[in-house]
Amino acid sequence: MNNNCIFCKIAKKEILSETVYEDDSIIAFKDIHPLAPIHILIIPKKHIGSVDDLNDDDVELVGHMIISAKKIAHFGNLESDAKITREGENGYKLLFRVGRWGGQEVGHIHLHLIGGAMLSEEIRPI
Ligand code: AMP
Ligand code: ZN
Repeated sequence: MNNNCIFCKIAKKEILSETVYEDDSIIAFKDIHPLAPIHILIIPKKHIGSVDDLNDDDVELVGHMIISAKKIAHFGNLESDAKITREGENGYKLLFRVGRWGGQEVGHIHLHLIGGAMLSEEIRPI
């Protein structure tokens, strides 16, 4: 627990979020500023700053985050008009931003699950 970390506070329910999945090690909740019809953040309950702070002991945890993202995408309790799969279309993006150049704003590792629509592919230097 990092006392100043907003996502630690969400994990401890000190800040409310729209939780879509939770277990002993992770929690998934709706992004407050969604970029697409589905925008979920999957975080570990323990504080890890970013992908740069991961070590070999975290392999299972990160794998669990990714597999859980897939399960939430396909089986999660998401709105019926914002499904990952619709009318034969499917797919989504999973995104880790890392550090300032990667555009990371919250210093607690989080996996973005973004979907529910065809997504553009704009990643470019500024
Ligand atoms: P990043 O830029 O990868 O660090 O993404 C941080 C994300 O956290 C952004 O998409 C924000 O909209 C989202 N966010 C920040 N505060 C909250 C919050 N209290 N509840 C839900 N999502 C949040
Ligand atoms: Zn934290």
